[in-house]
Amino acid sequence: MTLKTGAEYLEGLRRRVLRAYHLGERLTEPVEHPLIGPSTRAVAATYDLAHDSAYRELARATRPDGRVINRFTHIHRSTEDLVAKVRLLRVLGRRTGVCFQRCVGWDALNALYMTTYEMDQDLGTTYHERLRRFLDHVQESDLVCQGAMTDVKGDRGARPGDQEDPDLYLRVVRKRRDHIVVRGAKAHQTGALCSHEIIVMPTLALRDGEEEYAVSFAVPTTTKGITFVIGRQASDYRCLYDPAVDRGNAEFGGHEALTIFDDVEVPMERVFMCGEVAWSGPLVERFAGFHRQSYGGCKAGMGDVLIGAAALAAEYNGVGGASHVREKLVEMIHLNETIFSCGIACSVQGSATPSGAYLIDQLLANVCKQNVTRIPFEMARLAQDLAGGMVCTLPSARDFDNPETGPTLRKYLKGARGVPVDDRVRITRLIENLTLGRGAVGYLPESLHGAGSPQAQRIVIARHAPLEERKRAARALAGLRTPSTAQGQRAEPARGTRAPTDGSA
Ligand code: SF4
Ligand code: FE
Repeated sequence: MTLKTGAEYLEGLRRRVLRAYHLGERLTEPVEHPLIGPSTRAVAATYDLAHDSAYRELARATRPDGRVINRFTHIHRSTEDLVAKVRLLRVLGRRTGVCFQRCVGWDALNALYMTTYEMDQDLGTTYHERLRRFLDHVQESDLVCQGAMTDVKGDRGARPGDQEDPDLYLRVVRKRRDHIVVRGAKAHQTGALCSHEIIVMPTLALRDGEEEYAVSFAVPTTTKGITFVIGRQASDYRCLYDPAVDRGNAEFGGHEALTIFDDVEVPMERVFMCGEVAWSGPLVERFAGFHRQSYGGCKAGMGDVLIGAAALAAEYNGVGGASHVREKLVEMIHLNETIFSCGIACSVQGSATPSGAYLIDQLLANVCKQNVTRIPFEMARLAQDLAGGMVCTLPSARDFDNPETGPTLRKYLKGARGVPVDDRVRITRLIENLTLGRGAVGYLPESLHGAGSPQAQRIVIARHAPLEERKRAARALAGLRTPSTAQGQRAEPARGTRAPTDGSA
């Protein structure tokens, strides 16, 4: 098994022929591009960690056959594996301060592994064997996969087949004995150009009559018919034209693409679902659950950086010891550890599926992500509070470098005694990056919408919450012997129940 280094990964990305566009131009060598390069370096960090003496145990995993692989390609075999994942993502969030992009494909592999196994048991298909061969390829070559789930969706009030344009949800347009042809577009594709493979999944639970949309497959990023259009990000021009200081985090960044599939041919060998509408729901929910767990790690790691930056900003302003500053830092730590606790909790409460792969506790994973839709915003507010108004009024590095303005700026923008002005500038730019700039893309809107917008988690929470069990507990304590139902109310939850989460019966 290959355990690539970051340098080997970056070298392997060069000279690929991709059809990718940004700011009106076709990108020839994304690794060299000032906007994409920081993104590739963030992914490279996931490779380097597997060779870092302090973290190699965490960043590597062992397959059932004893072979050692990068953990980002591993199928979770225990709750310890699930916990290790969250810890790994926190380390990388803290090390890069951005979305390092490699978890989406990892989560897709895990969700597909257990779902294709159960599909085959149920339907007599052979999807799991195909998936295992693909997994071997990913593990053998230590590849990055992107998970492509979010369709562009058009009119959100209409089902896929009722759209004005049937391609607004990715679909199978032709099916032959040895291949299928697909058409559609997937939005918000994290790290698209940093990936070797794209794993496509349906975006929602489908119904009878919607078979053409129930499709899952994997294709190389370089496949004919695929076009990437990279989205704009806050402060993106700073990467193109400004000195590194003004970027706040000059080393690392992220990118997202609209990925367009224009009649792409997929060999049957790489198709993992094709028309089985009943299995689209479990696949979507499992993938989303895994990615909602992921946020308990990566966003806590980014939160660590923000807490450190806020503490330094207060020190550099000369108020590091003030009681209200300490209070705000304690609040940030409390909030950040709440996210992490949820990520750990849903992992510890995970359980084995019939395939042998482990699944997180869905209720707790969705509570994790629901917290992530709120907490980073409050932490960003507190960090800006501690950093002061300079976060949005600081002059550019060019003004500091200009002999006509630089000395005056250094005189008047001095903070605490003994702190160089340049240190104050750099830490202020980092807070700007994380709460307003390029880093905020991964820390704020992605926390809101990534792995599903807030309402998506609330639907799953409602479905998995053991409400009847809570009612029974209340009835028992209130001395109610006979269950009674208020008129016009349902006695049972609308869909599904689950085992108690707290060991109670
Ligand atoms: Fe990984 Fe977090 Fe980025 Fe998702 S948002 S790919 S979990 S780093
Ligand atoms: Fe994400």
